[in-house]
Amino acid sequence: MRTQVGIVGAGPAGLLLSHLLHREGIESVVLENRSRAAIEATIRAGVLEQGTVDLLKAIGVGGRMEREGAVHHGIELRFDGRGHRIDLSDLTGGKAITVYAQHEVIKDLVAARLAAGGNIVFEAGDVSVHGIDGTTPSIRFRHDGESEELACELIAGCDGFHGVCRSAIPQSARTEFTRVYPFGWFGILTQAPPSSRELIYTHHSRGFALVSTRSPELQRMYLQCDPHDDVANWPDERIWSEFRARLATHDGWAPHEGPIIQKNIIAMRSFVCEPLRHGRLFLAGDAAHIVPPTGAKGLNLAVADVRVLSRAMTAFLREGRHDLLDEYSQTALRRVWRAEHFSWWMTTMLHQFPGNDPFQERLQLAELGYVTTSRPKATTLAENYVGLPLE
Ligand SMILES: Cc1cc2nc3c(=O)[nH]c(=O)nc-3n(C[C@H](O)[C@H](O)[C@H](O)COP(=O)(O)OP(=O)(O)OC[C@H]3O[C@@H](n4cnc5c(N)ncnc54)[C@H](O)[C@@H]3O)c2cc1C
Repeated sequence: MRTQVGIVGAGPAGLLLSHLLHREGIESVVLENRSRAAIEATIRAGVLEQGTVDLLKAIGVGGRMEREGAVHHGIELRFDGRGHRIDLSDLTGGKAITVYAQHEVIKDLVAARLAAGGNIVFEAGDVSVHGIDGTTPSIRFRHDGESEELACELIAGCDGFHGVCRSAIPQSARTEFTRVYPFGWFGILTQAPPSSRELIYTHHSRGFALVSTRSPELQRMYLQCDPHDDVANWPDERIWSEFRARLATHDGWAPHEGPIIQKNIIAMRSFVCEPLRHGRLFLAGDAAHIVPPTGAKGLNLAVADVRVLSRAMTAFLREGRHDLLDEYSQTALRRVWRAEHFSWWMTTMLHQFPGNDPFQERLQLAELGYVTTSRPKATTLAENYVGLPLE
């Protein structure tokens, strides 16, 4: 097999890159180790920045998102039993976020690639990359019991945090920056009507809570928990009693409760691998960086990376230009570190740290008080949350 760009991973980064390259007349093959059904059913992100939404619309994959996604013009920060609205649109000249689940974005991108004759190899096993220091890199994998080799001109490592591409870069040629948080998120999907029109980020002495949404019938909600806890320790009544306690307001607000159809625990970390390029291998999305989900930045960063990368690859493959490929890592990392800071800041302001340090608690409340009363500070949150302009 031969193609221009070999892409490892059919997450948002890999699928979108393949679609963007196709629009420029560049061929690619996407190798994904899971099945189509599995990637289209994995529940993850749900908040799309304005720039992500604009891009998906501009490239013809935003139709269902426009019909089924929910545009939110604000979020609520809740602390001391009171809600404070951050008017995202007012603070950012009319920008907003769209709540539309990541697996729906995946379905739209897979459908678009297949409709255009794109090649996605699902259930590709034992994927490994070779020859990235030279000019004829390749990807080896197993499919339908056969060993295959895909010869390419460039390789994109879009295989997420646990993929194989990052570790194909020699350890001496990469630097990794990590922060692991001493808490996780307990996520649920519940069959209940929305409790709120907008997302609610809650600071509480019992721990952080987030009220999010999915559809008129299905809601996504999160509780701060011990990252090593077991979902078996959380019967439904314990979950709802914790939500009621953390989300309570002085005027008696309570969440809408319903059957819980999914429970999972997510660990929280910040991570960046630098640089994003080694020879002919280019990392994008979670393969290169992770943020805690508090800032809703992970999927959006993956989109921003591949937007820059698709232009650089196109300039190289069409015109033989190296300059944009040479700049890719630096350009993408500027946005990555801004998002890393924002996600760390939101996480630090809203979560309880072990030891219940009263000094830290007072600092958090001082910060929340400032964000909700100062227009410049609220603007900082808003412009990062809706997403800074894409380069
Ligand atoms: C619970 C949760 C909530 C989140 N909420 C948000 C949010 O609100 N907003 C937001 O922006 N982000 C959010 N994120 C983060 C977001 O989901 C990720 O940042 C996003 O999925 C990154 O996309 P990606 O394409 O880089 O990687 P992935 O989505 O991880 O895709 C990588 C793909 O590569 C495949 N793969 C892995 N290894 C191999 C291999 N060896 N060979 C072949 N294929 C391989 C995987 O199966 C996968 O399909 C959340 C994440 C979680 C877990």
